[in-house]
Amino acid sequence: MPLRIVIVGGVGAGAGAATRARRLDEQAEIILFERSGYVSFANCGLPYYLGNIIADRGKLLVQSPEMFRKRFRIDVRVRHEVTAIDRSGKRVQVSDLNAGTSRWEPYDRLILCPGACPIVPPIEGADATNVFTLRNMEDTDAIYGCLAKQDAHTAAIVGAGFIGLEVADALTRRGIRVQLVERLGQVLAPLDADMTGPIERHLREKGVTPHLGNGLKALTVENGRATHVGLDDGTRIEADMVLLAIGVRPETRLAADTGLALGPRGGIRVDEFLRTSDPDIFAAGDAVEVVHAVTGVPALIPLAGPANKHGRLAGEIAVTGRPRRAARVVGTAIVKVFDLAAGLTGLSVKAAAQAGIETRHCIVQRPNHATYYPGATMMTIKIVYRPADRRLLGVQIVGRDGVDRRLDVAATVLHFGGTIDDLADLDLAYAPQFGSAKDPLNIAAFVAQNQEDGLVRHVDPAEVERLRAEGWQLVDLRTAAEYAGGTIPGAVNIALDELRSSASQIAGDRPVLVFCQVGQRGYVGARILQNLGRTDVVNLAGGYSWYASQKR
Ligand code: FAD
Repeated sequence: MPLRIVIVGGVGAGAGAATRARRLDEQAEIILFERSGYVSFANCGLPYYLGNIIADRGKLLVQSPEMFRKRFRIDVRVRHEVTAIDRSGKRVQVSDLNAGTSRWEPYDRLILCPGACPIVPPIEGADATNVFTLRNMEDTDAIYGCLAKQDAHTAAIVGAGFIGLEVADALTRRGIRVQLVERLGQVLAPLDADMTGPIERHLREKGVTPHLGNGLKALTVENGRATHVGLDDGTRIEADMVLLAIGVRPETRLAADTGLALGPRGGIRVDEFLRTSDPDIFAAGDAVEVVHAVTGVPALIPLAGPANKHGRLAGEIAVTGRPRRAARVVGTAIVKVFDLAAGLTGLSVKAAAQAGIETRHCIVQRPNHATYYPGATMMTIKIVYRPADRRLLGVQIVGRDGVDRRLDVAATVLHFGGTIDDLADLDLAYAPQFGSAKDPLNIAAFVAQNQEDGLVRHVDPAEVERLRAEGWQLVDLRTAAEYAGGTIPGAVNIALDELRSSASQIAGDRPVLVFCQVGQRGYVGARILQNLGRTDVVNLAGGYSWYASQKR
C-alpha cells in the first residue's frame, strides 16, 4: 500500500514538505490542506505588492493547486481547514470552508505546518473594517482594496518590527502619510537599541513619524471604521487604515488539542528529526520550536529560511524514515527600510544577556567598498562575542549596500561555532567595487581582537556623560574643520597628526576619552598615547558620528 501523507498548511513549510515527499516517493498519496484560498504564495513579497513595487499580483502566486497536481501529483485542497486530529485512529477532521461540510481523512504520516498567526491585541475596535493584520493573500487584497477604495491618505502601523517597517516603506511610496506606533523605545526589537537610531532617523527623513515608547491604547471607531488611534501618552493619530503588526504567535491549537507536547516557548515540540511527541506526526515552520544554534536552547524563530528548509526535511523523513538532523537556527534576518538595510544574525547583546551569556562587543563604521572607487557607502557593524573563549555570538549591521553579504558571512561563522579570530582570518571576495582587501567584517573582528588582546579599550556613546561627570578629559582627534562642525560638549581638539607633539597638553592626572569621526583615528590616537606610557585611555566606539546617531 502506498503511504498516505497528509500535510496541514501549504505555504513556507507545507509546500516544501509536499514536493520533497513526492520527489522521493512516486507512489505516496500526498494530500495538502490549506485553510486560506492560496498555496505557496510569496508572503515575504506581500508588502512590496502593497507598495506597488511588485505590480503584478499574479507574481506572488508561486504555485497553484493545479500546478501541484500536474507536476507533482499532489492533491491540494485550499479553503480546507483541519479542525481535529484523532491520533489513535490516525485520521484528521477536515472542514470544507466553501461547502460548509466536514469529514475525516486517514493518514499514515501527518506533517503539521500551520505557521504562526498575527497577534491581535484585545482592544475594542480591532475588528473594524479598516483595521488589518498581514499574513496572507486575503489580508493583502483587503488592505489593497481599502487603500484604493477609501482613497486613503493616512495610515497608522502598530508595531515597528520587520513587517511593520516594510509596510511603512511601502505605503509611504504610495503617498500615504504613515505614523508608526511602537511600545518599545526603539524600532526592530531584535536589534540592540544603539543600532536602530540610524533607522529611526531615516524613517523621519522619509516622512514616517515613529512614536516610540508609546503603545496603542485605544481605537476610535465610527460607523464600523477606525478613525483614530489613541496612544498611551494621550496622542491621537488620524488614520484611514490601521495595520496591527505587533508580532506572531505559533498556531498550536491543533497540536495541543490532540495532546502533542509543546515546548517551553509555546511552540510545537519536535526532536532533531522534526518528529513531534507522536512518531507518525512531524512538524515544521513557524509553529515549531527550533534549537538556537548559539544558545543551544529551544527558540521561536518565525523566518522563511528555517521554515522552508525544515519543511523540506520533514517531507523527506516522513517518506523515507531516514533520520537526517534538522539544522540548528542562528536567526538571520534582514529588512530594507527605504534606502537602508538592517539585520542581524545570532544574538544581540540583550538577547545574550537574557540567555545568561557574558558578552563583549565592538562597533565599527566602514565603507562597503574601497572609497577610491565611486559609490562607497558606510555601514555600521556590531559584533558580539563571548570573552571567555572569543566565540562569535552575533552580528548586527545597518547600512546602505553590502549588508546582506556581511550578514551571510557572519551567519556562516556562527553556523560553524567560529570565533572572532575565524572572522578576522576569513578570505573574502575582493575587488574595489565589491569590498576592501580587509573587508569590513575582517576589520570588525580586528577591533574585537585588539580589544581582547588589551591593545585598546572602547566605551559606548551611552557612557560618555558618566565619564565626563567623573572628570575624564575628552579629546577630539579630528581636524579643526570637523571639530568646528560639531563635537561632544567639553571636548578639546587635538588633530591626530598633531597628537605626538601636543600630547603634553593632555593632563596627566585625569583619564582620557579620545574620539574621531568613526573610531579608526581614535584607535590610532589611543595607541599613540598608550605607547607614550599612558594607561588610562579609551576610544569612543563608532566615533562622533555614532555618538550623534544615538540622539533620538
Ligand atoms: P505559513 O507560511 O504561515 O503557512 C502556514 C499555512 O498554514 C497558512 O497559510 C495557514 O492558512 C495554514 N493553516 C494553519 N492552520 C491550518 C489548518 N488547521 N488547516 C489548514 N491550513 C492551516 N521571513 C523571512 O525570512 N524574510 C522575509 O522577508 C519575510 N517577510 C515576511 C513578510 C510577511 C508579510 C509575512 C507575513 C511573513 C514574512 N516572513 C519573512 C516570514 C515567513 O513568511 C514565515 O516564516 C514562513 O512563511 C513560515 O512558513 P510556515 O509554513 O511555517 O507558515
